[in-house]
Amino acid sequence: MAYSTSGNGPGLVTFDTEKLSHCSFEVGPIRPPSEGGSHSLLLRATRNCSWNRCRFCYGMIYNREKFELRSVEDIKKDIDAVKAIADEIKAVSWKLGYGGAVKADVGIAMIRRDPSLRANQSFVIVFDWFHFGARTVFLQDANTLIMPTDQLLEVVRYLKKTFPTIERITSYARAKTLAKKPLEELKELSSAGLSRLHVGLETGDDELLSNVDKGVTAAEHIEAGKKAKEAGFELSEYVMIDLGGRARSEQHARNTARVLNEIDPDFIRLRPLAIGPGLPLYEDYTQGLLQLSSPHERLQEVKTLVENLHVTSSVCFDHFLNSWYRDSDRRYTLFKQEYDGYKFPQEKDKVLQLIEEGLRVDESTHIHVKDLIGLAHL
Ligand code: SF4
Repeated sequence: MAYSTSGNGPGLVTFDTEKLSHCSFEVGPIRPPSEGGSHSLLLRATRNCSWNRCRFCYGMIYNREKFELRSVEDIKKDIDAVKAIADEIKAVSWKLGYGGAVKADVGIAMIRRDPSLRANQSFVIVFDWFHFGARTVFLQDANTLIMPTDQLLEVVRYLKKTFPTIERITSYARAKTLAKKPLEELKELSSAGLSRLHVGLETGDDELLSNVDKGVTAAEHIEAGKKAKEAGFELSEYVMIDLGGRARSEQHARNTARVLNEIDPDFIRLRPLAIGPGLPLYEDYTQGLLQLSSPHERLQEVKTLVENLHVTSSVCFDHFLNSWYRDSDRRYTLFKQEYDGYKFPQEKDKVLQLIEEGLRVDESTHIHVKDLIGLAHL
């Protein structure tokens, strides 16, 4: 039994949350921050990473577990579970007098009725998704595009049919996979509703791509990016600042700008390098093979990159690792960390001005990567 706390509902209504304890779906460990900002539904289409070799990552986020394709049947069952949870939430909303709307008060009443729902990940994700309009979906894990195209198409179509409110479906994609996939198949996926791809460019420098075992060349990155654009996807390319350390900073920045200029993606998202024990790149560091840059040196690298960019992309600093500050009290980050970032070329000068500002701020004001990852000895 639950009391309606506010709104149009009757003073006393009854409902049961028992069914929700039997409904769940599989969720992978990560998603891009922008998908969190969009309150995307997280749906696991594949498991783990099909490559697992990049030396700055090593698939650690997936515990280095083996890559697995999931069957379309299993993914559809998960989509059905999402629907069943949503239907239960809406049924409670109706009972409370909210006409099926997924309002905060509905969630509060349900959690009062059954406190275990607070820790029920499937319930929390679906509630949040519907509370914010059920518009965007992120297909997990690291390289969903590797699914056979007919299977991925079936998943995308089933999702859109089950939830007509969906406006955007996104996924991670390895550039190598994108480059290999026929353009016609990419176009089919894009027309069916897979709308945005997140690609880890990391760097456009061939020597560095090889050093970090990214498994893709700069030319393949360009081919993949251009194909994604031509097929009609919105494209986010992720760049790893300081990937080459002090020694390769200049070539990293210049060649990354060169590749990005060729692709001209919709979004360029900066993710400064952070390494820790267990990563091959960390071993390089401990053996003196990699010298990490200081905050000002990293900023200088961003400056070289930005100066050489001739794109119409939005350049985004939407991650806490972009930890440069504008004043000594560390009250304001240097760059806004919004998901839409700075629109180029219109805001290129503004970004360059901010960089100069950051270079004028005493270096100790900016947070060093060692503080961020809790490794003070770095
Ligand atoms: S492809 Fe992505 S998830 Fe896989 S190892 Fe490389 S960076 Fe990590």
